[in-house]
Amino acid sequence: MKRICVFCGSRRGERPAFADSARELGQALAARDLELVFGGGHVGLMGVIADAVLDAGGRAIGVIPHALVERELMHPRVPDIRIVDSMHERKALMAELSDAFIAMPGGLGTLEEFFEALTWSQLGIHAKPVVLLNVGNYFDGLLSFVGKAAHEGFIRAEHESLILSAPSATEVMRQIESFSPPNTRRWTPRPTI
Ligand code: AMP
Repeated sequence: MKRICVFCGSRRGERPAFADSARELGQALAARDLELVFGGGHVGLMGVIADAVLDAGGRAIGVIPHALVERELMHPRVPDIRIVDSMHERKALMAELSDAFIAMPGGLGTLEEFFEALTWSQLGIHAKPVVLLNVGNYFDGLLSFVGKAAHEGFIRAEHESLILSAPSATEVMRQIESFSPPNTRRWTPRPTI
């Protein structure tokens, strides 16, 4: 385990607990000598976690599309920024570089990134842990909706259990460290990414 991808909001959200948790996660990564892979911006929780990693002496790789360099205020202190051509390239590179995925509170972009990492796991494209950092129960509604979708017969139980979640950075790191790859049935031959 060398690099951890963190998906998180381009805003900070209303509750101070969100930024506090981003800081805590950044410090936890640096303390374990794990490199942060993130969206490359200096806005919202993205900026908070990258600052926390760098302030704690850790390393970070930012992956940002050309089109967002200005809008998401490309992080000025991260030495390793990869500028890509599209959102799709961003997600593919973030996934390729990383050994695990964590989603912090965020908006539509974060949810999209989280579900893509999860569905790639469901398809057997990767076998890396995908964990929600459920700060202040932010993701409770999402978890209960996924439970409903499983109950209604749209998500297999083994795929529902691919979603790991924990309320704090320390607990999330514990989930990642004790993760063993699921034995999910592959729906398709393993594609290359
Ligand atoms: P948000 O959670 O909406 O604040 O967005 C968090 C991050 O996700 C930002 O860096 C957005 O640029 C990014 N994002 C938004 N939509 C997408 C997408 N379709 N694919 C990849 N990243 C996205």
